[in-house]
Amino acid sequence: MKIKVVIDKKSGVCGGVKRAIKMIEKEIERNIEKEIFVNGELLHNRLEMERLVDCGLKVEEKVQKIKNNILFIRTHGVGKKIIELAVKNNNLIVDATCPKVSNSQRIIEDYYSRGYQIIIVGKQNHPEVQGLLGFCDDKGICVSDEIDISKIYLKLKSLLIAQTTVSTEKFKKMVDLLKNKIKDMKIYNTICPFVEKREKELIEFAKDHNVIIFIGGKNSSNTKVMFDKFSRFNKRSYLIENKSEIDFNWFRENDLIGVSGSASTPIWQIEEVKKVIENSLSNNKI
Ligand code: SF4
Repeated sequence: MKIKVVIDKKSGVCGGVKRAIKMIEKEIERNIEKEIFVNGELLHNRLEMERLVDCGLKVEEKVQKIKNNILFIRTHGVGKKIIELAVKNNNLIVDATCPKVSNSQRIIEDYYSRGYQIIIVGKQNHPEVQGLLGFCDDKGICVSDEIDISKIYLKLKSLLIAQTTVSTEKFKKMVDLLKNKIKDMKIYNTICPFVEKREKELIEFAKDHNVIIFIGGKNSSNTKVMFDKFSRFNKRSYLIENKSEIDFNWFRENDLIGVSGSASTPIWQIEEVKKVIENSLSNNKI
């Protein structure tokens, strides 16, 4: 079969994830005879997590169990009480909260201290939202749809802010729904520009190729938002977590196959998938 496989030159992890990976690698290298714990997945990418665990990173969701070691704060950030607990338990803190998330935390803390009701557009259980709520004594309200408006006190002065990876449409919809209902509402669009930029680039990439193989964690909201958007422009788009999920029946003669990934997919995984398809081609498997 004659096909061509092309890597999306703009793919690779976002700045926040790149920074966190570098920080953890540096910390592992420093090897100060303390164990390094992260309270959940450092990034929503199983293979990269496995690689870091092989290098020595330990995952422990319950921060109260981490004592006399190092707590590595992931890009999603955590609430203030988590940090206080970790310090009380004699841990060193290495903070890899993405600067964009730290900015949202600061905004929330500031408005909360001035008596504003905090409204976050996002997913209640997402670790970033959980962390943000920790900057307003867990009294913020998370909304993701029209139905959630009933949770809001419309007479209170309010701050409306976004989870960094929420879709622009969702945020805009909530702004439109609330702006005439709440008299004093400050609006901060804290959606990460990287995600918006990548969404646009991916739509163009999807249009320019016959098939798209998109690599990303299936539990990653950023992966899901990106895939849902661009796959509308290319019905032959496939989301995989690793190379073993490739189905060679997806390909046809003369296909131009584009391989790309989400904000938490390192470039080595994208290159690996390209290689698997090309090797199968040269071994006449497809
Ligand atoms: S997607 Fe944006 S906000 Fe999230 S970690 Fe990456 S750079 Fe930071």
